[in-house]
Amino acid sequence: MSRVAIVTGAARGIGAATARQFASEGAAVAVLDLGDTSEVVEQIRSSGGTAVSFSCDVSDEAQVDSVIDKIAAELGSVDVLVNNAGVLRDNLLHKMSASDWDIVMNVHLRGAFLCSRAAQRHMVPQRSGKIVNTSSVSALGNRGQANYAAAKAGIQGLTRTLAMELGPFGINVNAVAPGFIVTEMTDATAARVGVAAADMQAKAAEITPLRRVGQPSDIASVVAFLASDAASFITGQTIYVDGGRRL
Ligand code: NAP
Repeated sequence: MSRVAIVTGAARGIGAATARQFASEGAAVAVLDLGDTSEVVEQIRSSGGTAVSFSCDVSDEAQVDSVIDKIAAELGSVDVLVNNAGVLRDNLLHKMSASDWDIVMNVHLRGAFLCSRAAQRHMVPQRSGKIVNTSSVSALGNRGQANYAAAKAGIQGLTRTLAMELGPFGINVNAVAPGFIVTEMTDATAARVGVAAADMQAKAAEITPLRRVGQPSDIASVVAFLASDAASFITGQTIYVDGGRRL
């Protein structure tokens, strides 16, 4: 696959696994994050792959527009965009600040909007492209996550709408909705509620039909499928990758 894939929030967790997956399939990967991306970039390069690091806050319009144009200029095109960057600011509604609401909306929903809008400027003229958004099982509702659940449900509406608008230009837009995936995000949730990460994982596995929690590679492989030619007639879909947890 000699394509250029942009993965946001790729410094660690699911984004890093996705960047490694694309690189292993031969893509040149633009690793976007707020934080330090050196570890994943080094891992990809030492395995013979191509990765370039870009610092960017996905909720900042000027940064997004300039970084995506820079990626197209430096790497030659924009073929795949994975909107993965995310944050949590969990709290019950009566304790949730407006700023916690805004931060989550801005990173997940505004970020996916801004990055998709910037990427399609390159995809439409070339009449091809793949956008994969990141929703969550929390889109179906989750206590303490009014902001996150609303953003992740919004991602599904954004996905369907972009699929309609961009389909005529040969651009597929889909989403993955992960269940419990072991990352720093879920470790931080365990720490916040005062539970050991391993105990929280064991509890999540118990209520999951496949009786395990997910790993970042479980999501990366589905994202790669949705961005592949094998999925060229799939668009507007949200694929739950959750071990059957929402059954
Ligand atoms: P993670 O380990 O916390 O990684 C998220 C990454 O996003 C971090 O590297 C973070 O950078 C980056 N980021 C945050 N705000 C950003 C911004 N404004 N601009 C650019 N990058 C930003 O999380 P994860 O578990 O891998 O989650 C990845 C995605 O999957 C998220 O959208 C999450 O909501 C979704 N998801 C995760 C799970 C799960 O169980 N883990 C389940 C469902 C959905 P910093 O390190 O600098 O903050």
